[in-house]
Amino acid sequence: MSLDDATIAQAVGSAHAAHRDDPGGANASYIPYLASVDPSLFAVAVVTADGRVFSTGDDRFEFAIESISKVFTMALAMEQVGAAAFHAKIGADPTGLPFNSVMALDLNKDRPLSPLVNAGAIASTSLVTATGADDRWNRILSAQRDFAARELQLSDEVNDSEQTTNFHNRAMAWLLYGGDSIFCDPMEAVDVYTRQCSTLITTVDLATMGATLAAGGRNPITGTRVISSGNVPHILAEMTMEGMYTRSGDWAYTVGLPAKSGVGGGIVAVAPGELAIAAFSPPLDDAGNSVRAQAAVADVASELGLNLYAGS
Ligand code: GLU
Repeated sequence: MSLDDATIAQAVGSAHAAHRDDPGGANASYIPYLASVDPSLFAVAVVTADGRVFSTGDDRFEFAIESISKVFTMALAMEQVGAAAFHAKIGADPTGLPFNSVMALDLNKDRPLSPLVNAGAIASTSLVTATGADDRWNRILSAQRDFAARELQLSDEVNDSEQTTNFHNRAMAWLLYGGDSIFCDPMEAVDVYTRQCSTLITTVDLATMGATLAAGGRNPITGTRVISSGNVPHILAEMTMEGMYTRSGDWAYTVGLPAKSGVGGGIVAVAPGELAIAAFSPPLDDAGNSVRAQAAVADVASELGLNLYAGS
């Protein structure tokens, strides 16, 4: 199935129009920078697996990638160490608990359960093969750029805001250390993890990153293979189980696409072989998912008939 341009443009435009004034939610407040972003911002984008780009709203606005970075660090570490070793070290089970839960670590003898919540994500960052903090960071930023087909940059403002408030993540890194589940200096892991969350992306960048997964690991804009096609199903499975925080089950039940959300207000969903849908708006629900972005992505997926469990 290949969806035509008019159908995709219509779905993107009507989802934006339907939800631009949706009320509810609040910006993340535990990271000072995120609390200050204009809550009225809203954008929707689709990038197809054959490289077509559709977007509307505040689609040039750059926002913090936050938790969505976990997907791309997972991809990099898996590429470097192999899917089996990655799985053995980081796990692949949903926690059913908030993204920064310490209880999730307690349940598993201080070992991570999933690369898409903070404990497993910090462990994944530490697993990236690197010679030190800056090399680790440069490899992760380079992977993010390869997925986005653009020279993404770190926001010093976001990074400073998080580096001075990330005590909870540092505590989790030491728990991981106690569980033999951190693979570099624990504070280096948190430093680089915090930087990877502080990259600025647009909604189109996010859809392009997702479209690289939809295209089996080959970036549809640059034509460059970013990761092995064999690793993509592992990543999408993990997004299904843990990508929408504690609402991942509800999301699979209602939308039926692997997705990842971040507290910066971004969400990306991937329809394998077809396209990725991204949306951004800062106000979050109580699980940490953007209220308007969830609604818009769900509408586009439904309008285009993309629920994976519905078949064709
Ligand atoms: N940098 C954030 C943290 O680690 C990311 C959280 C998220 O987006 O879920 O707390």
